[in-house]
Amino acid sequence: MNPFAYSRPASLADTVNELAGSSRSRIIAGGTNLIDLMKENVERPAQLIDINRLPFSTIDELPDGGLRLGALVTNADTAYHPLVEQRYPLLSQTILAGASPQLRNMATNGGNLFQRTRCYYFYDTSMPCNKRAATNNGPGGCAAYGGYNRIHAILGTTDDTNGQSSCVATYPSDMAVALTALDAVVQVTGPNGDRSIPMADFHRLPGAEPWRDNTTQPGEVVTAIDLPTRGFPDHYTYIKVRDRSSYAFALVSVAVGLEMDGDVVRDARIALGGVAHKPWRKSEAEQLLIGKTLSPETIRPVADALLAGARGYGHNDFKIELAHRAIIRAVLKSGLDNGAVE
Ligand SMILES: Cc1cc2nc3c(=O)[nH]c(=O)nc-3n(C[C@H](O)[C@H](O)[C@H](O)COP(=O)(O)OP(=O)(O)OC[C@H]3O[C@@H](n4cnc5c(N)ncnc54)[C@H](O)[C@@H]3O)c2cc1C
Ligand code: SF4
Repeated sequence: MNPFAYSRPASLADTVNELAGSSRSRIIAGGTNLIDLMKENVERPAQLIDINRLPFSTIDELPDGGLRLGALVTNADTAYHPLVEQRYPLLSQTILAGASPQLRNMATNGGNLFQRTRCYYFYDTSMPCNKRAATNNGPGGCAAYGGYNRIHAILGTTDDTNGQSSCVATYPSDMAVALTALDAVVQVTGPNGDRSIPMADFHRLPGAEPWRDNTTQPGEVVTAIDLPTRGFPDHYTYIKVRDRSSYAFALVSVAVGLEMDGDVVRDARIALGGVAHKPWRKSEAEQLLIGKTLSPETIRPVADALLAGARGYGHNDFKIELAHRAIIRAVLKSGLDNGAVE
């Protein structure tokens, strides 16, 4: 591990100043991802800025009936908060499908949004990786593109022929899949003031800059995540398909929230995890469900629309059919009853 300076600013303004002052400064919150990356030499910060003194550790009701989740509230406290359990059970179930109890006790909501990909080649500094090479840490290229890519993306990838911007990585968070389905909004503060970023626009596809995971600007700090009023508490499901039934990242996951009028779908949200560089959602696919009664036949076109353009890279070809089946199962289950399915 490289030597680094450590600070614990008492205010958000000091944090933003320190962060904006050097491209090698990193915020540390729960440390469950950053410290691993430092141990593997993937991250080599010159300064760690510990934000645990900042006042972002509460969950508060918003005047419009929504909920504000502080960036420093742990994943465990968020999942078990009575208002989250009551109004946004999809979010509770999704968080509890991730990591382990010990990790969820340390991991924060802000940190969860910024966790890096679990691409094995990203963690191995001897391997070509465009995402890592941008920080002068190892050779450029994409070892996963022609390598072992079982956990990698099937949608929204960059696979240019010269390999200089190829990236087929997935973004691994469970929580963010539910936040995307729920139309959450991320609150950030940076050198240019405050701004709100809809969850759907927070993470990005690799495009020509695979080293950029999200749309935040240098020096910006996440202060909170806002949940809108509509939480789909009556009809929701999170299906997470993985190699082990606990303590493993999703190969494919599906978060669904429905509003039903008897047997008929009045409103629908569907987001996928484990398939792309960001949680994957298409409102035109959701629209296909409105006014329908639920059956495999009515859901199949929705799965087709969500997965349009999907392609595998060899080892991960199975994800396309897996995602198709998981979508049908999750939507059917949401219409019938509630809860998480392993
Ligand atoms: C063994 C293991 C298994 C796991 N399994 C899962 C799983 O199944 N599903 C899942 O979703 N996750 C899983 N995780 C990931 C875990 O959820 C994340 O590591 C955690 O959420 C990160 O939060 P943190 O507070 O510890 O972040 P940190 O490690 O402190 O920081 C992570 C990144 O976020 C940045 N950051 C932190 N807070 C802010 C902020 N407020 N504003 C701006 N930047 C910020 C940091 O600079 C850093 O780059 C697993 C982790 C481990 C180690
Ligand atoms: S998929 Fe992305 S993160 Fe993985 S090796 Fe390729 S460029 Fe790096």
